[in-house]
This record gives sequence, structure tokens and C-alpha cells, in this order.
Amino acid sequence: MEIVLLGTGSPIPDPSRGGPATLVRDGSSQLLVDAGRACVMRLAGAGSVPTMLSGVLITHLHSDHLTDLSDVITTHWVMSPTPETLRVWGPPGIEEFVRRTLEAFAPDIGYRIAHHEDLTWEPSVAVVEVGPGDVIQVGSFSVSVHQTVHSPAEPSIGFRVENAEGIVALAGDTIPCDGLDELCSDADVYVQTVIRDDLVRLIPSQRLQDILDYHSSVEQAARTASRNGVKTLVMTHMVPGAAPEQYPEWKAIAAAHFDGEIVIGDDLTSISL
Ligand SMILES: [Zn+2]
Ligand SMILES: [Zn+2]
Repeated sequence: MEIVLLGTGSPIPDPSRGGPATLVRDGSSQLLVDAGRACVMRLAGAGSVPTMLSGVLITHLHSDHLTDLSDVITTHWVMSPTPETLRVWGPPGIEEFVRRTLEAFAPDIGYRIAHHEDLTWEPSVAVVEVGPGDVIQVGSFSVSVHQTVHSPAEPSIGFRVENAEGIVALAGDTIPCDGLDELCSDADVYVQTVIRDDLVRLIPSQRLQDILDYHSSVEQAARTASRNGVKTLVMTHMVPGAAPEQYPEWKAIAAAHFDGEIVIGDDLTSISL
């Protein structure tokens, strides 16, 4: 199993970081978890394209986590030589989001069908809304759905992806909670979006102060990893954006609370199990 951080950024634009998106793949299946800014470009960087995806999992409906789902849908459609269905799982609301996205792209869909004689079908997207306790099989992966807490972005969920090679916990945006503990329990890899609360507090912007109450700090992510017997903590979606020379400081804060391996993600960072 391989985990590729496709996008390690946040809503704050950064030329070197795409928006939140992670690829989990093994020899037979590929899962895209969240579809942030530039995820299709980074998929290409990882040697993949939307037509190779077994499915897309969305953690919550914040724009940074799904703004480029439209690109995944469109690219999947125009690159498929014969009719193929893109499969998407997410919290309640995702079905409506996809329906409206297809509606918004109606002119494009019409132009392409009119222009390409062999393209006679519209995009096909099968959306399933899931919630805590659900278990789904996507290709070779078993995926269980767990409650996270990211209010007022509700509902929000995390995905625990397993195959014979290991367990990956993909938490999305959340503060520590019981659902997150279940999600991470004994995981080989735990991918958590993090903020540096100590640095964010210094920024004179109320909008940035507002994010403190619904994201895990580096310390909280490390404590979650430690409490749940995680082997590797992967930090992504860093706020404020971290320069590589600052990574040791971020890692040291986590290492004060967690003995396992700690990875800070650049885009296309790969972790193998
Ligand atoms: Zn969010
Ligand atoms: Zn986010």
C-alpha cells in the first residue's frame, strides 16, 4: 500500500502546495481522499489520472477539500473511451453538490458531446452518502467511516482504509474526539490536517483566530497518535504554511508527545507500507 500526499496546502494560496487531497493505492486499487485545489495535476505527478481511480472519498464539504472534484469528474469523463462511472462517497450533502456541479458544467458537457462524434454520453457519477459506522468495499480496500468534529462544517467524517498490507487513517479536518480515536486505533499511518496554534495566535487576523477551535494543533495530533498506538503520524494542510527549514521545529513539537515516526508532507510525499 502506498499513501501519496497529493496536496498539502490549506485555503491560503501557496504556489508549491495543492489543496487537501491524498491518494491511497495498492497494486489493484486507487482511492482519492478529498479533492482540493490542483488534485488532478498532482494525480498526474503521482503517475495517475482520474480514470484510474477506484473511487473518491470526501471528508466534508468545505471548499478547500472538494473544489476540484469538478475537475476529477470532467477529466474522468473526457478521458474515458467508453462510458464509465466515477464512484464518490461522502457525507450527506455530497450528492447535491455533485448534482449542482454537473448542472453548472452543463454548457461544457453539451459542447463536448456536440463536438466529438464518439462521445455520446454525459458524465456518470454514482454518489453514495455515508456516515459513522458504515463500511464500504472499494476495490481491494475495506473502508470504515468514522465521526469527526469540525463544527459548523457538519457532518464531517474520516476514513479508515485497510487491506492486507495495513491500515491508514485519513482524518480530514477535526479536533480530537471519540470518533477520531476509533478511526486511528492501531493505524499504521495517521494522516492529520494540522495547525500551529502557537503561531496562528500571533497573526492579527480574526479569520485566522477563528480556525483555532476546529482544527487539531500539532500537539493534539501527536497526542491522538500516541493515545491510539499509531506507528506513523503524517502532518498535512499546515497553517501557517511551513517552509522546509521549519519542519524540524514542527516535528519537535509533535515528538514531545509521540514516539513514533513523524512525517511532514510536501506535495507528492509518498509513504509505503
Ligand atoms: Zn474544513
Ligand atoms: Zn481544510
